[in-house]
Amino acid sequence: MEFIKNISEKAKDFGEKAKEITKRSGELLEVTKMRYEISKLERIMVNNVEAIGELYFRKFKGEGELAEEIERLCQSTQGVEQDIANLRTQIEKLTPKAPLCPKCQTALTEEAKFCHNCGTKIEEQ
Ligand SMILES: [Zn+2]
Repeated sequence: MEFIKNISEKAKDFGEKAKEITKRSGELLEVTKMRYEISKLERIMVNNVEAIGELYFRKFKGEGELAEEIERLCQSTQGVEQDIANLRTQIEKLTPKAPLCPKCQTALTEEAKFCHNCGTKIEEQ
Protein backbone atom coordinates (compact mmCIF):
# COMPACT_ATOMS: atom_id res chain seq x y z
CA MET A 1 0.00 0.00 0.00
CA GLU A 2 3.08 2.18 -0.47
CA PHE A 3 1.60 4.39 -3.19
CA ILE A 4 -1.39 5.26 -1.02
CA LYS A 5 0.90 6.19 1.83
CA ASN A 6 2.91 8.45 -0.45
CA ILE A 7 -0.21 10.17 -1.64
CA SER A 8 -1.57 10.87 1.80
CA GLU A 9 1.81 11.96 3.16
CA LYS A 10 2.24 14.32 0.27
CA ALA A 11 -1.26 15.63 0.83
CA LYS A 12 -0.37 16.31 4.44
CA ASP A 13 2.76 18.24 3.50
CA PHE A 14 0.83 20.43 1.14
CA GLY A 15 -1.86 20.88 3.73
CA GLU A 16 0.69 22.14 6.25
CA LYS A 17 2.15 24.49 3.70
CA ALA A 18 -1.24 25.91 2.87
CA LYS A 19 -1.92 26.49 6.55
CA GLU A 20 1.37 28.34 6.84
CA ILE A 21 0.45 30.50 3.87
CA THR A 22 -2.97 31.22 5.29
CA LYS A 23 -1.35 32.31 8.54
CA ARG A 24 1.14 34.61 6.88
CA SER A 25 -1.26 36.08 4.38
CA GLY A 26 -2.11 39.01 6.66
CA GLU A 27 1.21 40.34 5.40
CA LEU A 28 0.03 40.62 1.84
CA LEU A 29 1.15 37.44 0.20
CA GLU A 30 0.61 37.82 -3.50
CA VAL A 31 -2.70 36.56 -4.74
CA THR A 32 -1.04 34.86 -7.69
CA LYS A 33 1.04 32.76 -5.34
CA MET A 34 -2.08 31.68 -3.49
CA ARG A 35 -3.83 30.89 -6.75
CA TYR A 36 -0.88 28.73 -7.70
CA GLU A 37 -1.07 27.01 -4.36
CA ILE A 38 -4.78 26.36 -4.88
CA SER A 39 -4.15 24.77 -8.25
CA LYS A 40 -1.54 22.49 -6.67
CA LEU A 41 -3.93 21.56 -3.86
CA GLU A 42 -6.68 20.88 -6.38
CA ARG A 43 -4.43 18.45 -8.20
CA ILE A 44 -3.79 16.69 -4.91
CA MET A 45 -7.52 16.51 -4.30
CA VAL A 46 -8.01 14.81 -7.65
CA ASN A 47 -5.24 12.31 -6.92
CA ASN A 48 -6.61 11.61 -3.47
CA VAL A 49 -10.12 11.05 -4.67
CA GLU A 50 -8.80 8.72 -7.33
CA ALA A 51 -6.85 6.79 -4.72
CA ILE A 52 -9.90 6.63 -2.46
CA GLY A 53 -11.88 5.17 -5.34
CA GLU A 54 -9.18 2.61 -6.00
CA LEU A 55 -9.02 1.62 -2.35
CA TYR A 56 -12.75 1.43 -2.07
CA PHE A 57 -12.94 -0.90 -5.04
CA ARG A 58 -10.22 -3.12 -3.56
CA LYS A 59 -12.16 -3.23 -0.33
CA PHE A 60 -15.26 -4.21 -2.27
CA LYS A 61 -13.30 -7.07 -3.81
CA GLY A 62 -12.27 -8.18 -0.33
CA GLU A 63 -8.58 -7.28 -0.62
CA GLY A 64 -7.43 -6.83 2.95
CA GLU A 65 -8.38 -4.38 5.69
CA LEU A 66 -8.70 -1.09 3.88
CA ALA A 67 -11.37 0.75 5.83
CA GLU A 68 -8.81 2.52 8.02
CA GLU A 69 -6.72 3.52 5.05
CA ILE A 70 -9.77 4.91 3.28
CA GLU A 71 -10.77 6.81 6.40
CA ARG A 72 -7.30 8.29 6.76
CA LEU A 73 -7.16 9.36 3.16
CA CYS A 74 -10.64 10.89 3.34
CA GLN A 75 -9.61 12.86 6.44
CA SER A 76 -6.51 14.21 4.77
CA THR A 77 -8.45 15.05 1.62
CA GLN A 78 -10.97 16.96 3.68
CA GLY A 79 -8.08 18.87 5.20
CA VAL A 80 -6.83 19.81 1.75
CA GLU A 81 -10.33 20.90 0.77
CA GLN A 82 -10.46 23.12 3.84
CA ASP A 83 -7.09 24.63 2.97
CA ILE A 84 -8.33 25.46 -0.50
CA ALA A 85 -11.39 27.14 0.99
CA ASN A 86 -9.17 29.15 3.38
CA LEU A 87 -6.94 30.30 0.55
CA ARG A 88 -9.99 31.33 -1.48
CA THR A 89 -11.26 33.39 1.45
CA GLN A 90 -7.86 35.06 1.76
CA ILE A 91 -7.80 35.89 -1.94
CA GLU A 92 -11.27 37.36 -1.71
CA LYS A 93 -10.16 39.61 1.14
CA LEU A 94 -7.12 40.84 -0.78
CA THR A 95 -8.90 41.39 -4.07
CA PRO A 96 -10.54 44.80 -4.31
CA LYS A 97 -14.21 44.61 -5.15
CA ALA A 98 -15.41 46.06 -8.43
CA PRO A 99 -17.89 48.88 -7.92
CA LEU A 100 -21.51 47.89 -8.56
CA CYS A 101 -24.24 49.81 -10.31
CA PRO A 102 -26.54 51.12 -7.55
CA LYS A 103 -29.58 50.33 -9.67
CA CYS A 104 -28.98 46.94 -11.34
CA GLN A 105 -25.92 45.69 -9.39
CA THR A 106 -23.86 45.09 -12.53
CA ALA A 107 -20.10 45.02 -11.86
CA LEU A 108 -18.46 48.12 -13.31
CA THR A 109 -14.93 49.22 -14.02
CA GLU A 110 -13.24 51.58 -11.57
CA GLU A 111 -13.51 54.55 -13.94
CA ALA A 112 -17.04 53.93 -15.30
CA LYS A 113 -19.19 57.07 -15.46
CA PHE A 114 -22.32 55.24 -16.52
CA CYS A 115 -23.55 51.69 -16.06
CA HIS A 116 -23.01 49.79 -19.30
CA ASN A 117 -26.07 47.69 -18.55
CA CYS A 118 -28.80 50.12 -17.53
CA GLY A 119 -27.18 53.50 -18.22
CA THR A 120 -27.45 54.82 -14.67
CA LYS A 121 -25.05 57.68 -13.97
CA ILE A 122 -22.43 56.59 -11.45
CA GLU A 123 -21.73 59.15 -8.73
CA GLU A 124 -18.13 59.54 -7.64
CA GLN A 125 -17.58 58.03 -4.22
ZN1 LIG B 1 -26.98 49.42 -13.96
